[in-house]
Amino acid sequence: MGQAQAKPQPKKRVLVVGAGAAGTACAWSLSRFPGRFEVEVWEALPVPGGVASSCTVKDGQHVINDQVQGGAPSYRHNLRLLELFGFKPTPVMMRIAFGVGDKQWTNHSPSELTSRLQPEIARFGRVLRWISRLEPIFVFVPIDRVLRWLRFSDDFRYQMVFPLVALFFGTGNQTPHVSAAVISRVFLDPHLRLFDYCPQRLLNSVPEMFAFPVLEEVWATIARKSDFKLCCSRPLARLRRLPGGGVMATDTAGVTASFDEVVYGCDAETVLRTMENPTWLERRLLRNVRYYTDFCLTHEDAAYMAEMYDMRPGTKQQQQQQQPQGQRQEQWAEQRQEQQGRQQQQEEQRCGKDNYFVRTYGGADRDKIEMSFNLSTYQPHLQEADLDIYQTYYLDAQNRHLWSDSKVDPSKVLASRWMRQFAHTWTHFAFWVPWVRFIQGTRHTWYCGSYTMVNTQEIAVISGLAAAERLGADYPFAHDPLAAQQFDTFMAVVHGRRRRRPTTAAAKSD
Ligand SMILES: Cc1cc2nc3c(=O)[nH]c(=O)nc-3n(C[C@H](O)[C@H](O)[C@H](O)COP(=O)(O)OP(=O)(O)OC[C@H]3O[C@@H](n4cnc5c(N)ncnc54)[C@H](O)[C@@H]3O)c2cc1C
Repeated sequence: MGQAQAKPQPKKRVLVVGAGAAGTACAWSLSRFPGRFEVEVWEALPVPGGVASSCTVKDGQHVINDQVQGGAPSYRHNLRLLELFGFKPTPVMMRIAFGVGDKQWTNHSPSELTSRLQPEIARFGRVLRWISRLEPIFVFVPIDRVLRWLRFSDDFRYQMVFPLVALFFGTGNQTPHVSAAVISRVFLDPHLRLFDYCPQRLLNSVPEMFAFPVLEEVWATIARKSDFKLCCSRPLARLRRLPGGGVMATDTAGVTASFDEVVYGCDAETVLRTMENPTWLERRLLRNVRYYTDFCLTHEDAAYMAEMYDMRPGTKQQQQQQQPQGQRQEQWAEQRQEQQGRQQQQEEQRCGKDNYFVRTYGGADRDKIEMSFNLSTYQPHLQEADLDIYQTYYLDAQNRHLWSDSKVDPSKVLASRWMRQFAHTWTHFAFWVPWVRFIQGTRHTWYCGSYTMVNTQEIAVISGLAAAERLGADYPFAHDPLAAQQFDTFMAVVHGRRRRRPTTAAAKSD
């Protein structure tokens, strides 16, 4: 008797809502198995990428990445994805200037403030280690409460710790409410930390980061070379989960389509707005992701920058004294050789230029900050054109009375943008992150996006790959131990699952 032939499984029709980093990563990962999935992505905007976007400035003469800029060498998934699609990141040395006058300090030079606060800086290191040991408890305790209990000074909290964390975790003006456990990870977790903690000056290293290539090209290339259907300018208006299984999606033009599964790769507010019949738990949990409205000006007003921030240039000697942190990544070596001559010249030009600037408002608002950075230090083509283009972020529209955006010379403004960003308050980690797993897969509905954990580009990509994995698309970067470790941690926290063993069906790109 002949062997019974396995019945071919019908393809799963999957709708991914949102073509940001998370949604695109998910769609790409699913599309590696064209025999199993038929993937459609609906994106509200005319181009993919979400907040990892580009735009043109100066009468269309220059393309800039105008929101997401770069990441750390530990961003294995982003680096792997760039590599797969033929893109190369640019190395960037991270120089930051905090505060002004007697509150000024940097990650590269001694300052009056760090000398004065040295005993607290040393004590902070010991506190961080305790927080790390007792992490399950400190997840629920805001950092401000811990530092107040332990009688850390206002200057240490408001001028040093909060601006630093706000900058790197996008925690904005909610930083005092961020979980103490998260702050300890920022400094101590070998996979998350950007800087080595220094008991003398808090920071004394200039870490090597990378800048993304033109992001619009990255997403367009991924979409073009992958087997999913990208529908831009097609916002989801309504989603109905059907009693017999599957979902019915309707766009804003009133066109309806049915799918077997839906992956929400957009923000939690949109999920709640579009989902017609959420369960009690879905409604209850998604409400716990809190968003704030921020405003960003892209400008060339050097006078504004000089007035608001400490723009003193570092000397060449200081530049030489800086200790580059961490190992240079292998994949950058080749690029480095190619660019060596040009970069040397750029280093000369760039010597002493800080990338980031953070200032703390005064008086009763000393827990709130404004952030700026020099885009040109991230984007080599702007350096070549000898341009200094700045971006200034004004945080939380409820504090608009504090903003100094009106002081920026309107003739020097190149672009402006309103944004919604979620907050990393301790409640995010207490009432959302550990619970998302209980709604993953409910009625064929999945969630990805950086908001499922922390607001970084790396988490966005990991979250997309994780949703795809749950649907049956094998994890693509198992050969990279650090990537796999980060992915497994994410899976454990946000899906409450282990990574599946790879299926026998080979992925198209493997
Ligand atoms: C200004 C800014 C700068 C940042 N810089 C960095 C950085 O340099 N490095 C870093 O690591 N992280 C950075 N981040 C963090 C950033 O949030 C993440 O890096 C990541 O890009 C978020 O991706 P996402 O896919 O989760 O969300 P998003 O990029 O927000 O994608 C969600 C997508 O869903 C779409 N959408 C919304 N509603 C609908 C609808 N109804 N129908 C269809 N589509 C819809 C949106 O248009 C969007 O494209 C930055 C964030 C901001 C806001």
